[in-house]
Amino acid sequence: MRTKCLIIGSGPAGYTAGIYASRANLMPIIVEGPQPGGQLTTTTEVENFPGYFDGVEGPKLMEDLRTQAVRFGARIISGLVTDVDFSERPFKVVVDHGKDTLEADTIIISTGASAKYLGLPDETKYRGMGVSACATCDGFFFRNRPVAVVGGGDTACEEAIYLAGLASKVYLIVRKDYLRASKVMQKRVEENDKIEVLFNTQTVGLEGGELLEKARLVRFKGTPQEEEFTVDVEGFFLAIGHQPNTKLFEGKIELDPQGYIVTDGKTTRTNIDGVFAAGDVADPVYQQAISAAGMGCRAALDAEKFLMLNE
Ligand code: NDP
Repeated sequence: MRTKCLIIGSGPAGYTAGIYASRANLMPIIVEGPQPGGQLTTTTEVENFPGYFDGVEGPKLMEDLRTQAVRFGARIISGLVTDVDFSERPFKVVVDHGKDTLEADTIIISTGASAKYLGLPDETKYRGMGVSACATCDGFFFRNRPVAVVGGGDTACEEAIYLAGLASKVYLIVRKDYLRASKVMQKRVEENDKIEVLFNTQTVGLEGGELLEKARLVRFKGTPQEEEFTVDVEGFFLAIGHQPNTKLFEGKIELDPQGYIVTDGKTTRTNIDGVFAAGDVADPVYQQAISAAGMGCRAALDAEKFLMLNE
């Protein structure tokens, strides 16, 4: 199969690129990846996507974007890109270890980012047995049980508030003495009786049998007031940011030291002519659904211009 424009990834950036590329008659193919719809499919209410003035559920927003891309002719392939060859045009993209091999004149990479973990050995041991990076996916298992959320950003606050509606108690473990989250989220956390914020606190270990039972924490680490204590928790949710999904592209495209794809100035051009990047995979700063969608639009316009100049 050959296309003028292949889009890898199906978050707001990928689907928006699909809308623009199909309206430009590039007949794009979108390879959806391991989590069709991307990170927003695991979130609850999205209140800040323009146009949805009453808010919208994350999965519904993504379904709407997908429908809009398909309406204008984007073709969707379910599957995971397992190899890419950017050495010459047309570029080659292998899906599911050879189930499909696609050729493309331009590529838009919009593979997004994934949740970070703390790196504690116990996190792996209890993954799926108490440890999770997605409250909306796994919160249900902790109804009327105590849980903890790690992080001080908007995601952590959002997850804590969501979990407070299910769990018996939510500890919000924040390493600094303040929340980085927006004021509106901070206020909602403060006003929620079920949430206890533990400032200046870090996690040093997790304990339990087969299932998680406790988190070992340290307050004021490295100071004379340092104290270690435990909290009883059956769920332990990470909300400490994300890392870009670029493993597949290592050595094939320029990445910055954090692994984000480097784009050229205000464009979405990468260091490979004809390959563009959009959304969280190339944006360590804004990381919003709407900024990703905007970048997807720019990538499709950049791809269209590239094809005009190079066909
Ligand atoms: P952020 O990067 O904003 O926050 C990450 C949090 O995790 C920070 O509090 C950080 O601490 C903490 N952290 C990072 N590493 C560690 C560690 N090793 N141990 C303990 N704590 C750690 O990520 P978010 O996912 O919260 O948000 C990303 C972007 O998405 C932001 O721009 C945010 O505004 C946006 N967003 C918006 C939402 C909305 O508007 N509804 C909802 C969710 C996200 P420290 O502060 O000390 O660095």
